[in-house]
Amino acid sequence: MSHSSSAAHEALVVGSGASGLTIALLLAKTGRKVTLIEQQASIGGYLRRFTRKGLRFDTGFHFTAGFDDVMPQILQVLDLERDVIPSPMHSALYLHESGRRLEPPATGLSELAEYLADIFPDDAPAIRRYYQLEQQIVAETPLFNLHNTEQMLAPQLSSYDAITLQEYFAEQHFHSSELPAVLGIMAFCHGTPPQEIPLGQHCRISCGLNRHLSRVEHGGDAFLNGFHRELKRHGVTIRTNTTIDKMLSFTADQRCREVLLSTGETLATDTIFFAVHPECYLPLFPEALLTPSTRRRFGKYQDTCSFFAIYGRLDHEQPPKQELLQYISSNDLNAVLGPGANAYGTGMVTSSERDAQGKKHTTLTAFRNMHLDEFKARCGITSLQQRHSQKYLDTKQQITAEIVADILRVYPQYAQALTVLDSATPLTFLRYSPPRGSAYGVRIKMSESRLAGRLPVNNCFALGHHAIMPGILGSILGAFLTFRLAAGEEQYNAVVANAR
Ligand SMILES: Cc1cc2nc3c(=O)[nH]c(=O)nc-3n(C[C@H](O)[C@H](O)[C@H](O)COP(=O)(O)OP(=O)(O)OC[C@H]3O[C@@H](n4cnc5c(N)ncnc54)[C@H](O)[C@@H]3O)c2cc1C
Repeated sequence: MSHSSSAAHEALVVGSGASGLTIALLLAKTGRKVTLIEQQASIGGYLRRFTRKGLRFDTGFHFTAGFDDVMPQILQVLDLERDVIPSPMHSALYLHESGRRLEPPATGLSELAEYLADIFPDDAPAIRRYYQLEQQIVAETPLFNLHNTEQMLAPQLSSYDAITLQEYFAEQHFHSSELPAVLGIMAFCHGTPPQEIPLGQHCRISCGLNRHLSRVEHGGDAFLNGFHRELKRHGVTIRTNTTIDKMLSFTADQRCREVLLSTGETLATDTIFFAVHPECYLPLFPEALLTPSTRRRFGKYQDTCSFFAIYGRLDHEQPPKQELLQYISSNDLNAVLGPGANAYGTGMVTSSERDAQGKKHTTLTAFRNMHLDEFKARCGITSLQQRHSQKYLDTKQQITAEIVADILRVYPQYAQALTVLDSATPLTFLRYSPPRGSAYGVRIKMSESRLAGRLPVNNCFALGHHAIMPGILGSILGAFLTFRLAAGEEQYNAVVANAR
């Protein structure tokens, strides 16, 4: 039975990943009435964790940058400071082609540059120049200071956003053929190949991760516990198992004033924020508003890869330090990150977790990049319903064995210590983040404006992991920027300044 909700809701947020949760809370802090809708049974998107054999595992949040700059500001504004506690992580790299393993010191960019300069002495000046450039680009990016009133909506448009990472590397004429992979390795953390990513954008992401890599104690649970409390405190209505079926009632100036929910109810709304993939909301817009230029703008976006992940426990008498090791099967990062190539990267994350009895364990999560279509082709299935077929299960087993072999190549000492507890395919990730379970949203390519801000329906805004930068930090920053655009400078400053 269809009925209309009695109260007018001022703001409707669609999607409850890191970006949707952030904007819902920011809007509620201005006194708006906010409804957050989520099509899954629980909120959190890729922040959600799961339990195997008493241990908690993360789906899409293993490490982050930002604790040495903007993350403390974010946590303060959102009142999550007590919930989200960083824990340092070590970074390492394994180049399969040469079997070389690099373990830089975890102390900062200059130390990293000197460590690599020792290993590649012929390229020492180019290595130092590159890391200085990373720092310079970050220093010139106002996005990384929430209090900066010069902040732009899209953190781009320095001269370094006009060439690709690959073009920059080509100009350096490195002596070592390994160096582009070594310096560009953080491309694995944004998912766009060096031949496509603007140099400036790559450096913003890479610098943060190189400078200060952390994980968060209790991973996504830490954020979600805090968000649950704060959203409740600010009166945000959360509706799970709900999405928008249709936009109703448009005003003459192309604003949508009412939507039909999948529950059959109608909801009055003043502004709608889509914190989901564009393919989830564009079909809702009236045909007449989807002009050829709009279609071109949205149509040309390409998703990044998804992942195949395995989750395990390490029972070793000498527990390893918390580490992100990036394994690449080829030194050609374009092949590693592009679809169709027979090359891949695997992130291997070891971390310390307590079980329900408080006993400490070491977990190991390894995620190999893989496109949804490639996975479907490999196991010969075309729909989610077939995921219990024998071919699907066999393929899962095969890929798990391949990943375990890579792990043991890197960490032979864990041969007897590793117990695999579960695995997840790109089809599994689809359930966390439709429509393709892509890990970093859409690719950040040269000369493309970021997919954020106002949409063709005038009271609708886009944000989300496809919008500004990848990862949890990028999703949250994107939410701050969209909030600023929608609420205006005065309200933005009131919310951000209040937290000082
Ligand atoms: C295996 C893996 C590992 C990763 N590791 C890291 C990491 O270590 N560090 C890091 O920073 N990032 C990592 N990421 C990326 C990070 O998880 C994402 O960039 C980020 O969580 C995206 O947040 P989001 O809010 O934009 O979207 P999501 O988390 O995808 O949330 C979108 C939400 O919207 C809901 N939704 C979708 N469509 C609709 C609809 N029509 N109606 C209602 N609800 C809808 C979805 O169900 C979902 O809950 C990883 C990703 C993967 C897959």
